[in-house]
Amino acid sequence: MASGSKIEWTEVTWNPVTGCDRISAGCDNCYALTLSKRLKAMGAAKYQNDGNPVTSGPGFGVTTHPRALRQPYTWRAPRTVFVNSMSDLFHARVPIDFIADVFKVIADTPQHTYQVLTKRPSRVLKLADQLDWPANLWLGVSVEEAKVRDRIAALRKVPAAVRFLSCEPLIGPLGHLELDGIGWVIVGGESGHGARPVQANWVTEIRDQCVDANVPFFFKQWGGRTPKANGRELDGRLWDEMPALAAS
Ligand code: SF4
Repeated sequence: MASGSKIEWTEVTWNPVTGCDRISAGCDNCYALTLSKRLKAMGAAKYQNDGNPVTSGPGFGVTTHPRALRQPYTWRAPRTVFVNSMSDLFHARVPIDFIADVFKVIADTPQHTYQVLTKRPSRVLKLADQLDWPANLWLGVSVEEAKVRDRIAALRKVPAAVRFLSCEPLIGPLGHLELDGIGWVIVGGESGHGARPVQANWVTEIRDQCVDANVPFFFKQWGGRTPKANGRELDGRLWDEMPALAAS
């Protein structure tokens, strides 16, 4: 139900929902879609529902997993938890009652810090007033290219304790970012088969704006054939800044 994560900015992934549909260019090489197909073939119980063959795929149909809601109650030591690495919690087919159940688990386990990342902030905004927002929930939006920068304006209106941007896979320059109300920015290049190369000036432009605005900046990787192919140093150093965790 949950597993240790290789993602540099989190410790563990928790997937009370699996499955999704591609929504923008950042989804073109969605690792979750590819992995779900493999997990279905291996017989993994959570990945047996197929999604739309055009926007989703085998094993990647949106599915809620009520039993997975119990998992965080069994973790004693504080953890940083990436919620739904295999889905988008705010996909239209995730019922609001189930989202509320996920939020309740988060509120009930304040020793952990939960990171929810979505490409659907307009649905978040629509539901925001009907949800209780726990202090240990961080909400982020993906901003992979300038075309989807309007996700930031929607995010800013959401009452999350920390609002963050995940500019990954960065596939174009973002230009000017309005960072008011934003508490963290992650940047990463794409990796894997068909990875679209990231340019250094796209990254430094974002980093410089974060430094100027005093927003923690995390550079995850340059990407390439594998996630570690080109390392993660930027201007001769690592950038691992993060907001303070719930339990610290
Ligand atoms: S929103 Fe995320 S999980 Fe859904 S298809 Fe796009 S990249 Fe994959």
